[in-house]
Amino acid sequence: MKKILLIFGTRPEAVKMCPLALELRRRQDVQALVCVTNQHREILPPVLDAFHVTPDVSLDLSEHGPDDLTGLTAALLEGIRGVLDHLKPDLALVQGDTATTFAGALACFYAHVPVGHVEAGLRTYDMTRPWPEEFYRRAATLMARWHFAPTEQARDNLLREGVDPARVFVTGNTVIDALRTTVQDNYVNPVLTWAGSDRLLLVTAHRRENLGPPMERVLLAVRRAVEERPDVKAVYPMHPNPAVRRTAQAVLADCERVLLTEPMALADFHNVMARSFCLVTDSGGVQEEAASLGKPVLVARDATERPEGVAAGTLQVVGTDEKEVYRALSRLLDDPSAYAKMAHAIAAYGDGSASRRIADILLEKP
Ligand code: UDP
Repeated sequence: MKKILLIFGTRPEAVKMCPLALELRRRQDVQALVCVTNQHREILPPVLDAFHVTPDVSLDLSEHGPDDLTGLTAALLEGIRGVLDHLKPDLALVQGDTATTFAGALACFYAHVPVGHVEAGLRTYDMTRPWPEEFYRRAATLMARWHFAPTEQARDNLLREGVDPARVFVTGNTVIDALRTTVQDNYVNPVLTWAGSDRLLLVTAHRRENLGPPMERVLLAVRRAVEERPDVKAVYPMHPNPAVRRTAQAVLADCERVLLTEPMALADFHNVMARSFCLVTDSGGVQEEAASLGKPVLVARDATERPEGVAAGTLQVVGTDEKEVYRALSRLLDDPSAYAKMAHAIAAYGDGSASRRIADILLEKP
């Protein structure tokens, strides 16, 4: 019986690891254990609930806020070391590009536990954007034995960096597996009721490098686009980070056709996305989800590690300049042919079977 430990701790990791945990738990001859680090204290548990995944181990990082990356990393390393000592897995899996990903892989490296990296090979090749995620994912590559690249381009990045081709597998992204379980016809939700027949912009923003003035400029552009068009509304489920909330409240709280909400449950968020007109976001996972649903995405960042959607025309990198974001948003809202060019679903990020492929590789199924 192979013992596999899945290590994750943030909302996006949970969205992308729960489908894999469930897939592994369906297989024979494998014990799939889940260790959550609780790097995201508030927004992680709803994702676990959505997938009915009960963690086997749960770390307490409550002393470390999001700004204390050093303390957080040290606590993660210590915590995960204890879990490895106790559970003695045959191999471990980490996902993506968070402090948990980095510390999880490093703790395994020190303990001689082989690691698989889910969503390997994403790159901007700029350590400052996104920060510190670009470092975390590149460091994970150095420590991993199996590299599960979601796309051909991600695989090419790894091969260019000298990773052994026999250890790189193109699997699709497990986020699409998750999306296949949540989006339903006739989904009812108070946000959709509030939006009625108006065109709905779905906004998310939380990247560290966007905190403060960049985020303010993006939200001002959204505000202006909404205020100038009576048939447009926007909803922004705010990230719990207090710095994000301060900016969101300051710019948008008094705008009647903008709804600031608490983070949405995963199924609510996916279904609101599926009914939205377009998205403005600096998120990583949201780019993949929206592109798969055929929703145009204005990426409020200077660079994306998800170039497949840009090449296909579904994602547009617009940066954080207020005028640029406003111009791109106005084009989508006012020019139906520009909208039509972006509003088509692409399969570049996966087909819903990534977890099955990863499980087959780990369990050496032909
Ligand atoms: N998400 C959610 N509720 C929300 C906003 C986002 O469940 O209110 C999900 C979203 O569907 C995606 C993930 O959270 O799967 C993205 O997380 P985030 O944007 O925080 O992280 P990133 O992908 O940028 O690392």
